Amino acid sequence: MGRSAFFIRLFGCPVQCPWCDSAGTWHSDYAPKEIERLTVEPLVERAVKSGAEFVVLTGGEPAIHDLSRLTRALRDSGMPSHLETCGGFEIKGTFDWITLSPKWQKLPLPENLERASEFKLIIEDEASIVKWIQEIGSCFDDRPVWLNPEWSRRADQRILNSICSCVKQRGAPFRAGYQLHKLYHVDQLDENVRRPVPLGGDESLGY
Ligand code: SF4
Repeated sequence: MGRSAFFIRLFGCPVQCPWCDSAGTWHSDYAPKEIERLTVEPLVERAVKSGAEFVVLTGGEPAIHDLSRLTRALRDSGMPSHLETCGGFEIKGTFDWITLSPKWQKLPLPENLERASEFKLIIEDEASIVKWIQEIGSCFDDRPVWLNPEWSRRADQRILNSICSCVKQRGAPFRAGYQLHKLYHVDQLDENVRRPVPLGGDESLGY
């Protein structure tokens, strides 16, 4: 049986990457004026009722919030908690898995680099991989390092080639990544997801 996840997308991110694919959580033109505010208990109840095997706390940048109470309640109800973060903020909460996706606009804290279970690098241009290796490569150890093309440039063959070459030449821990959920239109099929927002809130970058 496959592993299914219940995603909780927390609002707000001060980092504001120009190509952010969650700009609806922070962009003034796209952030909803009203959102349903849930306390911990009903949120955990929804996660449990969904039948998912684990919860992913993502954003926006979830680590700008204190997630201690939520992750404790999830654990008490038998739901593992995963976190997706840029790593630039102190992580408050108990997590079973941490995906650290660093951003140049807010570099990860050393303690978060140590705590990460895996890394996800967003490859914006041909120089991205080498630049990230120089910046944080000494921390990778044997933890997986996913190389994802920045979504507005996903068809840029130079970027795809740089990912392909890295995986072929360097091998583990590098892996080629892709936002497969977008190909499958997973968000559009979910009644809880709001209307799509352009990358970084910029129509010219697409969705
Ligand atoms: Fe914030 Fe992540 Fe979006 Fe960057 S990509 S603005 S860190 S939510």
